[in-house]
Amino acid sequence: MRIGVFICHCGSNIGGTVDCAEVAKRAATFPDVVYATDPMYTCAEPGQAAIEAAIHEYALDGVVVASCSPRMHEPTFRRTVERAGLNPFMFEMANIREHVSWIGKDVEPNTNKATELVAMAVEKLRRNQPLFAQEFPVIKKVLIIGGGVAGIQAALDCADGGLPVILVEREATIGGKMAKLDKTFPTIDCSACILGPKMVDCAQHPNITLYAKSEIEDIGGYVGNFQVKIKKKATYVDWHKCTGCGTCLEKCPSKDVPDRFNEGVAKTRAITIAFPQAIPKKAVINADYCRQITKGKCGVCAKVCPTKAINYEMKDEVVTEEVGAIVAATGYDLVDWHVYQEYGGGKYPDVITSLAYERLMNASGPTGGHILRPSDGREPKNIVFVQCVGSRDRSIGRPGCSGFCCMYTAKQAILTKDHIPDSKSYVFYMDIRATGKLYDEFTRRAVEEYGTEYIRGRVSQIYPDGLGHLVVMGMDTLLGQPVEIKADLVVLAVGIEASAGAKELAEKLRISYDHAGFFMESHVKLKPVETNTAGVFVAGVCQGTKDIPASVAQGSACAAKVLGLLSRDTLSSNPQIARVNNMRCVVCGKCVRTCPFGAIKSVEERGRTQIRVIETMCQGCGLCTSTCPQGAIQLAHATDNQILAEVNALCQI
Ligand code: FAD
Ligand code: SF4
Ligand code: SF4
Repeated sequence: MRIGVFICHCGSNIGGTVDCAEVAKRAATFPDVVYATDPMYTCAEPGQAAIEAAIHEYALDGVVVASCSPRMHEPTFRRTVERAGLNPFMFEMANIREHVSWIGKDVEPNTNKATELVAMAVEKLRRNQPLFAQEFPVIKKVLIIGGGVAGIQAALDCADGGLPVILVEREATIGGKMAKLDKTFPTIDCSACILGPKMVDCAQHPNITLYAKSEIEDIGGYVGNFQVKIKKKATYVDWHKCTGCGTCLEKCPSKDVPDRFNEGVAKTRAITIAFPQAIPKKAVINADYCRQITKGKCGVCAKVCPTKAINYEMKDEVVTEEVGAIVAATGYDLVDWHVYQEYGGGKYPDVITSLAYERLMNASGPTGGHILRPSDGREPKNIVFVQCVGSRDRSIGRPGCSGFCCMYTAKQAILTKDHIPDSKSYVFYMDIRATGKLYDEFTRRAVEEYGTEYIRGRVSQIYPDGLGHLVVMGMDTLLGQPVEIKADLVVLAVGIEASAGAKELAEKLRISYDHAGFFMESHVKLKPVETNTAGVFVAGVCQGTKDIPASVAQGSACAAKVLGLLSRDTLSSNPQIARVNNMRCVVCGKCVRTCPFGAIKSVEERGRTQIRVIETMCQGCGLCTSTCPQGAIQLAHATDNQILAEVNALCQI
């Protein structure tokens, strides 16, 4: 073989703590290496041109680049060697940045370690074989999981781009949290007025199929060819017949049912429609509270329904859809603030969450937009807002900032004054984080125009004074003195966490999640909506906190990625996959059971059971190779021989 080695300085990133020229000098002595050099920026255009030129000049048939992580530039360099006529898999990369220069400062040991990594890459390359990708057809359809504003935007943009869209929402209506909001910062425009048309477009778009009250049961397959099982939950109402007239709601005698959409500040009935602008606007029976389903005694809604839509016998149904790409947009939940016993832990009805407050302010909410105390229906005059409840609090394991609470608290204080002109709002805060466009101006308006009193400090205790008020005790850390405010209503700006079931969904999607359950993007800066599983994208708060504009932007970004991906008729498979040596295989089936992608099958061929790897499904994870007791299944370019050769290189140097 004739191998060329390129030791990249990456400016001072590597060159600052690794003697690159020395590594190149040593590499020139390795077996089969006929050329070694140390360019400044190998990934830049002149760097790539130099590789191409060297391939021609020295008749190279293999190339090693020692630089950054392969996750960053392996595809770049594969394309470079391919342009010069080599098979793109006759290329190896040694990571001497993240694995060497960024973790140690001493030049000599760094230089030695970089040399070892290069020696290993050369030995591996000497055993590489050219590999060839297979083309496979792509299903031109996308699945979007979660119908909040991020998922809605992704669905509309994909559908407008001509792609059939399957939108799965686990609640009975799309809209997510935005559908619960009254008005939105920083423009104070009505949430329903800007979200409503998008929700209607989703329902009416010929390219969008909506599965509400549904969840993902299982996901199989791979980029371009996913098979998805969707569980349509029993609603006990035939939605083809239901016209959303609401007759059933009025007559249902089971009235004391917690109203999830109204965040606990109202009760609903056993049969309900989430809110007047719900999409789809269809009735759903809550089986836990339905007297007919639990006791076999009632049946009122079936009697009054003019279209005979009620079906108490309805069962969950599973449907299968085939799609080429998936967007996860499952948003967030508020953290359980009841751990704060000093705030009453949920005992006091007039200590409510910010989302519940949105429902009280909302014209389509349970009070018709009049802010009334849950305890006695009186209009509150003194309202205390407490920020960072369940955010930036290490004591309960929630060190992170929830991102939008400073802004929506300012909004709620402004709106409170609009609703109740003789009211007074107080805000307890740690610092104000208002970094978006016009955001700082907005929070200032709350103080300067609306007279909101901001008190810097944490609230230590909230308790009822027995005379119909709540006493809020805290510390003003700017004045250095304790404060005590008599409040009629306390609104907690409760922090956020990934939505319930996010981790389980991540496992079905085979994507990573962080310690708080938020989905991990492929690269924080350069691939913010991609994930480590090809064909799976993330939009909105499921990836980390963001407000509505940022969630919408990510929805559109996902759509752009999906439209780009599915504009192709075929995709190429990754040829670095597992291969079975049938002479060694004893058909024990361990690999079949181990493969997380279901890519290994046991098939009958010419009267014999044989193990087969489905090339387009194998992701090259290598689990099967370490499971096989016979060493009969090997991963191309990570064979036992190659790994041993690398270890030998390390021992000999
Ligand atoms: P969500 O709105 O959470 O939507 C996610 C959707 O996915 C939901 O419909 C959920 O039911 C569904 N889902 C979850 N899991 C699954 C699953 N496994 N399968 C199927 N479906 C699933 N931002 C602003 O810009 N301006 C404001 O004025 C503002 N006010 C706010 C006020 C409050 C009190 C709060 C708490 C937030 C406010 N925000 C505001 C932030 C705003 O709510 C978010 O930016 C926005 O809702 C994020 O949208 P999303 O689609 O990512 O998530
Ligand atoms: Fe109307 Fe019947 Fe639907 Fe209830 S179930 S909203 S009564 S059509
Ligand atoms: Fe309500 Fe159930 Fe009776 Fe229908 S059958 S009216 S949902 S309690």
